[in-house]
Amino acid sequence: MAGRNHLFVPGPTNTPHEILSAMHVPMEDHRSPIFPKLLSPILEDLKKVFRTEAGQCFVFPATGTAGWEVAMTNCLNQGDKVLIYRFGQFGHLWAEASRKLGFDVEIHQVEWGKGMPLDHLEARLKEDKNHEIKAILATHNETSTGVTSDIPGVRKALDAASHPALLFVDGVSSIGSIDFRQDEWGVDASIAGSQKGFMLPAGLAILGFSQKALAAIDNSNFPRSFFSLKDMAASNKDGYTPYTPSTPMLYGLRKALELLLEEGMENVYARHHRLGEGVRRAVAAWGLQTCAQAGWDSDTVTAIVVPADKDARHVISTAYSKYNISLGAGLSEVAGKVFRIGHVGDMNDVSLLGAIAGVEMAMLDNGFDIKPGSGVAAAIEYYRSTAK
Ligand SMILES: *Cc1c(COP(=O)(O)O)cnc(C)c1O
Repeated sequence: MAGRNHLFVPGPTNTPHEILSAMHVPMEDHRSPIFPKLLSPILEDLKKVFRTEAGQCFVFPATGTAGWEVAMTNCLNQGDKVLIYRFGQFGHLWAEASRKLGFDVEIHQVEWGKGMPLDHLEARLKEDKNHEIKAILATHNETSTGVTSDIPGVRKALDAASHPALLFVDGVSSIGSIDFRQDEWGVDASIAGSQKGFMLPAGLAILGFSQKALAAIDNSNFPRSFFSLKDMAASNKDGYTPYTPSTPMLYGLRKALELLLEEGMENVYARHHRLGEGVRRAVAAWGLQTCAQAGWDSDTVTAIVVPADKDARHVISTAYSKYNISLGAGLSEVAGKVFRIGHVGDMNDVSLLGAIAGVEMAMLDNGFDIKPGSGVAAAIEYYRSTAK
């Protein structure tokens, strides 16, 4: 099909030309004396995106899923109790991964459409007088439902209970796009991946650890090899890696960091908020609901609930086959009930208006009772009135 495939899945996201060009490099010697000039500044600049000065950042040749495993197998002991709230597919997968790794997983179900229940968390932590819970696994931005949780609130609950559990945060679809502050929020492990806010191909787990988490490694009996943070830290200290890095990905990450830091993290967050708000206005104008309940909206992805007599999969397939636009599907519990518009990474008003128009066409084709142009009009009004 002529023209572009318009990518509005919440990962992988669109990769800007600057990043694609930066990655187009011949292979080079990763043991050369100049390699540290590439890696060391990347690890330093990542701290500006994770908002940490006290902590340390790491890059593993893996994906976000591996980030969970790095945090858990380095900082915890075999069989430790971990606490997780399940309010979407990624929290579900994290709980499953923890179970497979042999942790004692305490799962609390939360209605999909909401996020971390802070009152419940605080009560549960206060009840845990013997401090059996060793880590809280918190999904900052639940990509399957378009829900953002209050991580500073999670820290407050831990502090209110004077509970020493480590705080692990899945920020795969928030870090680098939604406000995230590792130090200020007392996050012990921050987990990101390359293919969302960092606008790169998948292939890197990008992680931040607090000093408390790094110190916990010394008390951990968990077997690990490839994902050893100690081995990674020891090589990183001199600007190298324990095994062969993907140098094109590192050049891409170098450029992604330049783009993010040049724009400024506060501006990056504000841009995503504005983009997300335009989509929410369009959804309201269509007379539809988001999966996220009031107050839980995500600025990187919107999950839109279709009327009970419709199947969201039809909207997605029409959008793809007739209009060459890729939308996110509803996952597991919400399969067929929602479709998702990703608005994360290399995105602006006009690109996103393409998604809103494409979605509108696909919904009309599937007999949705919506007024042609209504969502586009609402988004246009919002974007025009807030454009700088
Ligand atoms: C995408 C995503 C993951 C999984 O990342 P992979 O890179 O696919 O392993 C985990 N958590 C969240 C919140 C995500 O959005």
